[in-house]
Amino acid sequence: MSKIPSLHPVLQGWLLNGPLAAYVPAYLERLERGRYALSTSRRCLNAVAHFAHWMSLSRLPMARIDESRVDQFLQEHLPHCGCRGPVMRHPREAHAALMPLLATPELLQVVSRRFEHFVDPYETEEDDDG
Ligand SMILES: [Zn+2]
Repeated sequence: MSKIPSLHPVLQGWLLNGPLAAYVPAYLERLERGRYALSTSRRCLNAVAHFAHWMSLSRLPMARIDESRVDQFLQEHLPHCGCRGPVMRHPREAHAALMPLLATPELLQVVSRRFEHFVDPYETEEDDDG
């Protein structure tokens, strides 16, 4: 298990017990490969933890995460954020931190599976929403 550069306990909880927990190891690996400064890694993880917390608050499942959700977080949540804890609220930094998250292979699998669902010619079941 990868280690998390000393992060505030509240943020670690959001990260490790939140909806993004499964993607944290891949994200950490990415940070390690990128050889970011420790302070940079911490700010990235802060943003990802904050995003995970917002996902929980918004009841957003992983399958619905894409760039438009990130934009929503940056433009609608950050300016009005009232989250407890030392959260990072700079939209630009948060954006830079969250984009690699969308590019982790594990998450891409989730997203591509979702799109496959729409184009699968053998799909016979239909969702009746009401
Ligand atoms: Zn917040």
